[in-house]
Amino acid sequence: MSGFFITATNTDAGKTFVTAALLKAFLDLKRDCVAIKPIQSGFNDPNSIDTKIYKSVNPKNDFAPKYLLKKPTSPHYAALCDGVEIDFGEVLNYCGEFLENHEISLIEGAGGIYVPITPNLTMLDLIKALNLETILVCKNELGMLNHALLSIEALQNSGVKIAAIVLNLSDENDEICASNVEFLKTKFDGEICVLPKCEIAKAAQILAKFAKNHKTKTEKIDLNFDREHLWHPYTSALSPLKSYAATGAKGSYIFTENGALLDGMSSWWCACLGYANDEIKAAATAQLNQMPHIMFGGLTHAPAVNLGKKLLSLLPSSLSQIFYCDSGSVSVEVALKMAFQYQQNRNPSKTKIATIRGGYHGDTFGAMGICDPVNGMHHLFSGILQEAIFLEKPEIPYGSEFNDAQISKMRETLLANRDKIAAIIVEPLVQGAGGMWFYHENYLKFFREIADEMDALLIFDEVATGFGRTGEMFACTKSGVTPDIITLGKALTAGTMSFACVVASKKVANMVSLNGGVLMHGPTFMANPLACAVALKSIELIERINFREKVAKIEEILRRELAVCAQFSEVCDVRVMGAIGVVEISQNVNVEKIQEFFVKMGVFIRPFGRNIYVMPHFTASEAELKTLCAAIAQAIEKKAY
Ligand code: PLP
Repeated sequence: MSGFFITATNTDAGKTFVTAALLKAFLDLKRDCVAIKPIQSGFNDPNSIDTKIYKSVNPKNDFAPKYLLKKPTSPHYAALCDGVEIDFGEVLNYCGEFLENHEISLIEGAGGIYVPITPNLTMLDLIKALNLETILVCKNELGMLNHALLSIEALQNSGVKIAAIVLNLSDENDEICASNVEFLKTKFDGEICVLPKCEIAKAAQILAKFAKNHKTKTEKIDLNFDREHLWHPYTSALSPLKSYAATGAKGSYIFTENGALLDGMSSWWCACLGYANDEIKAAATAQLNQMPHIMFGGLTHAPAVNLGKKLLSLLPSSLSQIFYCDSGSVSVEVALKMAFQYQQNRNPSKTKIATIRGGYHGDTFGAMGICDPVNGMHHLFSGILQEAIFLEKPEIPYGSEFNDAQISKMRETLLANRDKIAAIIVEPLVQGAGGMWFYHENYLKFFREIADEMDALLIFDEVATGFGRTGEMFACTKSGVTPDIITLGKALTAGTMSFACVVASKKVANMVSLNGGVLMHGPTFMANPLACAVALKSIELIERINFREKVAKIEEILRRELAVCAQFSEVCDVRVMGAIGVVEISQNVNVEKIQEFFVKMGVFIRPFGRNIYVMPHFTASEAELKTLCAAIAQAIEKKAY
């Protein structure tokens, strides 16, 4: 399975001609080669179809494009005019079949690399998704250099390898054509093929050298190395679970060596705007060129200040002191440290943290100590972890009628330990990795009241819920309860890079700082400018897309589409909040088995425990959401767990 993607600097550069000539060159070498054009616009009658030229080289090479569109414009606009919706996944599958079944597939694009296929996906995205080397066809004429250099830069910046540049329609006697070739040689290190205006057979002869010498095998990700040397999350190094080789990700898709997968996980809550968002990439590139990193000790910078202003404009007004750090787990450590340092200056005997069962706060030691004592990692580190005070898991679901019975018990436990408790920490409204459970907001109101009564701090871990996932920007704003300290991470950079922060009230900061006290934390990559710039852009985008409306719509669709799962006897509960949809079954899933089933169905969903769940990105389409929900229903119906 290998091939080339034939693209051009612009329309009319002669891609189809070059593709046909390459086809002939490979066939002359007795290679199993096919040429296809997955999308053709400007097609009016069967004789105007570009791929007829391939047929003239090899009568068997007669494959109709997946999409034939009438208007001679970009596929996106031509499809719009024809009232057709181009399904990117179908285009990928169409190409994938040829790649799978032939030694060399030549895939001809439409127009240049930034030509839109759908409103959000371009030819460049298709090239990346197919993970193919490109052949860039340029029409050798005045103005060619600018077009060629821009295309080369864009391809290289996207990590796409250029196998060769073909300078088509070159006139050897023309001074400009000759100087173009010479100049391009100084800028491009790879193969440059110069084609005069000629017949296909002649062009094939010229391209024969390239066809003979170029290694056509696409390099595969070394899965053996991965299996033998790379630890994956929560797996054995010696008998790891299966991993799929991802080659790229864009929008709603993860591209693997075996095809495109419609993503339902947002990479564990974080990719809330889909993958590789163009505006976020642009913000990252600009900051990368400006200043990717400097230490935060003794220095500050605009990305940190501007992001800080943005965060404070969104958070409850009492939260005002920001600490930037590396990851969700570290933000929890910092929040705990803040609480302990606060109490050292106020009530030194308060050295314990209270929390609820069923929680998850990360994998570092402080965080592990407050994760659920049964589902978490306490059994592995008993005697090592700091003992927390555990309250029952909040049993009244979000949206149900509330009663005080459980709160009374919680109150008793808390008051019995009031002299020891420095802070109460919870994931507000949604317990994520501890069980995907949505609980009533009155628990949070109670925690706020009792924390004040006991002179303890209230910490909300919003690493997972922050930035729109529940339908509001934060679960604290959704519930109307304000903590003393909040932790944020994951979607902070819309899944672009690891970054997190802790925001505390002035009350906390003042007490920590009493008598010259300092907060004893300062990671090397604190306030990394690149991460700050990306975070600022992603928050701007979350606001600009009107996430409340988008997430409300997703909630409605998930509710409707997952409801069918309730009919299966093994389903205990179907619950939805914002852009989180959960189907809980009566037994633990076999992760590898069910994931394999999902991958076969073309979706990426990775359940855990008894929960089969999706948390799509906020701009996922209705059709995509339906596909994800249908896959879950099928997995249960076919007992693929
Ligand atoms: N807190 C919560 C609520 C989480 O869901 C997670 C991760 O899933 C963390 C903390 C830990 O974050 P990270 O994995 O970035 O360390």
